[in-house]
Amino acid sequence: MKIFFDVDYTILGLDDTLRPGTVDTFQKILDDGHEIYIWSGMGERWEVIEKHDLHRFVSGVYEKPTHHFHERLPELKIPVEPEFVIDDYPEIVAAFGGVWVPPYFFSRSVDHEMDRIYRIICDFQATGDSEDRQYRAKGTKIPLF
Ligand SMILES: [Mg+2]
Repeated sequence: MKIFFDVDYTILGLDDTLRPGTVDTFQKILDDGHEIYIWSGMGERWEVIEKHDLHRFVSGVYEKPTHHFHERLPELKIPVEPEFVIDDYPEIVAAFGGVWVPPYFFSRSVDHEMDRIYRIICDFQATGDSEDRQYRAKGTKIPLF
């Protein structure tokens, strides 16, 4: 699958640290044969890729549409259809399908969300679904939390 990760509060905290488990999880996702893309509503975040040495994992870095998600892909020069999206912003997850994650802020917090994300990806890959309540099927209504 083409798996798209958001940056701020999804893999990157306010303190500029990577969410715990990000590198290990990216490696597992690649080992399973998927492709990882990074996008952000703030633009192409190459500085984050460089600072955290993520080049080896990513197939593309893009600006993320913050509305009219599907319609704006060509305008933002995103050449592939996102098949699975991980984001702390629920609307875009509901649009493409994927995992909504609680925002990550600081490295001092205990955080196992990357393990959970990986489990949901594996569920979805195996069955086309997941029973985890953070999973969103493509086209689901906006979740209320
Ligand atoms: Mg975010």
